[in-house]
Amino acid sequence: MSLAKAYAALSANAPLTPYTFERRALRDSDVAIDIKFCGICHSDIHQVKDEWGGSAFPMVPGHEIAGVVTAVGAKVTKYKVGDSVGVGCMVDSCRHCKYCEQHLEQFCANGMSGTYNSTEQDKVTPTQGGYSNKIVVTEDFVLRIPENLPLDAAAPLLCAGITLYSPLSHWKAGPGKKVAIVGLGGLGHMGVKIARAMGAEVTVLSHSEKKREDAKRLGAHHYYNTSDATVFEKLAGTFDLIVNTVSAQLDIGAYLGLLSVDSTMVQVGAPDKPNTVDAFPLIFGRKSYAGSLIGGIKETQEMLDFCGKHNISCDIEKIAINQVNTAYERVLKSDVRYRFVIDMATL
Ligand code: NAP
Ligand code: ZN
Ligand code: ZN
Repeated sequence: MSLAKAYAALSANAPLTPYTFERRALRDSDVAIDIKFCGICHSDIHQVKDEWGGSAFPMVPGHEIAGVVTAVGAKVTKYKVGDSVGVGCMVDSCRHCKYCEQHLEQFCANGMSGTYNSTEQDKVTPTQGGYSNKIVVTEDFVLRIPENLPLDAAAPLLCAGITLYSPLSHWKAGPGKKVAIVGLGGLGHMGVKIARAMGAEVTVLSHSEKKREDAKRLGAHHYYNTSDATVFEKLAGTFDLIVNTVSAQLDIGAYLGLLSVDSTMVQVGAPDKPNTVDAFPLIFGRKSYAGSLIGGIKETQEMLDFCGKHNISCDIEKIAINQVNTAYERVLKSDVRYRFVIDMATL
């Protein structure tokens, strides 16, 4: 065991405060990582506020982890001391169910181990996340960060990156496809960069005027401010794929109206209150309303390699760990350009 320094929420809605706890001793297949940077995902905030229910405290959030390997167990083959690595939203799964066998560990039939607010596969030992100076993870759930990507700006790829790459890849964003990204936050800005690199024609649908210039700089071909209701008439029937990253309730029917026949709107935002869907916008046009959860480990490595090849990383605002509570407030006001990343040297 080794003592880790961290910031934790001690109860629901409590501000994050300094906290120490034990990381497990290195097992044969484990990698020990010095965490250098950790992104702040909106899911951290949902869980600290217990908006999804069932949150466990004390909670050390953080599942966008980038760091350097400091030790490896006797049977580790993929990593060595000094490697730049990442850890995303999962630290283990059963490895033998039909979904694990298909590299879809996020849907493990026996329950994957989330990086925090979850348990190890013993279903007892709590997991704690990346707002911390170190972590120990089985090598199969450790990802390799391409050498050309800066560690701080690569950290958010481990959740925001894969959460957009997976549906864009699954629903075949590419040349000739008109793709809309709803919400230009941490997830949304990665969606723009990745969809653009895949060759799609990319539109940002944002709920204010504020991010118009940024959207173009990030690679979007078009930008519409959805607070103007006429946008929904103008763009009716336009898109082959819509990915909704919004963290709050949305009028899903209005967005389904923007799809072309046989097209799909994918929900990745996870608001605490239900999004309701009327039958008619789905029936008229044989449209689909789907969901997507992060991505499997193999696909996450594929995403990192894709980002390395296209030189894609995140637009970040680096903060000291004692600024984390203020950063949460700013995320809630959609005032983040486009991901806060905690510099763990400040811990
Ligand atoms: P974020 O950085 O806060 O971005 C969310 C964006 O949604 C905002 O920037 C804003 O974009 C828009 N928005 C926020 N409130 C809104 C409102 N009331 N009405 C309309 N638009 C609003 O959050 P994030 O980290 O990208 O996460 C987004 C959501 O995805 C969260 O619910 C998170 O829990 C979830 N998530 C899901 C997965 C998954 O696997 N499915 C993975 C990670 C995160 P504009 O200003 O451009 O409108
Ligand atoms: Zn996340
Ligand atoms: Zn499984």
